[in-house]
Amino acid sequence: MRSSSAGTKALRLDRARGCLLGAALGDALGATVEFMSRSEIKARYGVHKKIIGGGWLYLKPGYVTDDTQMSICVARSLLKCGGFDAVDMADTFVEWMRTGPVDIGSTVAQGLRRYIAKGSVAAKECQWHGGNGALMRVAPIAIAALGCPDSLEGWAVGQAHITHNHPLSDAVCVAVSRMIQSALSEKPLLDLLEIAHELVREHPEFTFRPYDGKAGGFVGETFATAFSSFYNTDNFEDCLVECVNKGGDADTTGAVAGMVAGAWYGARGLPKKWLNKLERNTKKELIGLAEALLEIG
Ligand SMILES: [Mg+2]
Repeated sequence: MRSSSAGTKALRLDRARGCLLGAALGDALGATVEFMSRSEIKARYGVHKKIIGGGWLYLKPGYVTDDTQMSICVARSLLKCGGFDAVDMADTFVEWMRTGPVDIGSTVAQGLRRYIAKGSVAAKECQWHGGNGALMRVAPIAIAALGCPDSLEGWAVGQAHITHNHPLSDAVCVAVSRMIQSALSEKPLLDLLEIAHELVREHPEFTFRPYDGKAGGFVGETFATAFSSFYNTDNFEDCLVECVNKGGDADTTGAVAGMVAGAWYGARGLPKKWLNKLERNTKKELIGLAEALLEIG
């Protein structure tokens, strides 16, 4: 019989893989309908539930966008440095930007240009930095910081500030990281939900119940879209389908829903038909990264 600690380790690994792969699936599924409205999606697809690529980026099926690519940068840098190092992470982002990615957010590009010009690893607080570009790449931080709990907040906010410095972005990066850690630690669902309720009590901009239907790139809208979908469903596939069919910033709402739902339901809860579509190299790297990130700390 397997010892309970081996069982816990296996479950934790399954959930860490679910988190990273889940975010990538949300990105790949949502990218098809990014910037479409709910009614446009309905008219064109009925319910959008297949990984078919396309969208405004003309993606090949199973390919991912900046959400997953930047998460991979975060993970690679954490592994290289054995934890968060702002300079190395900024360098990793810049190296990625120079490859000419299929998409890059304007705040991200601006932040990386500031780093290149001035060497500063933290943006100044700015009222226009409330976009979801730091939230979309937070999953590896949550996994890596599991072994060093005192580091979580500093790492989540530190990675965010390379490009985004806004109190709401900071708050949601920390909260979603804590939710992922709650799932990886096998805490009851109520614990994860309480983190969301606490976030909303502190910052009503994140209210997800009732959900107001706005699915844009502002962190309040992105979180509410992703989390209301998680809250209203009881499996990964339904959560992601509900989420991306809201349209708007669907690749990123999908990635955020995917990282939380993937951590909760685990890799075993991810639909095989979607995993089979995910671009092979990305999938392989994410599976390996999940295991390596858990070893940090
Ligand atoms: Mg994207």
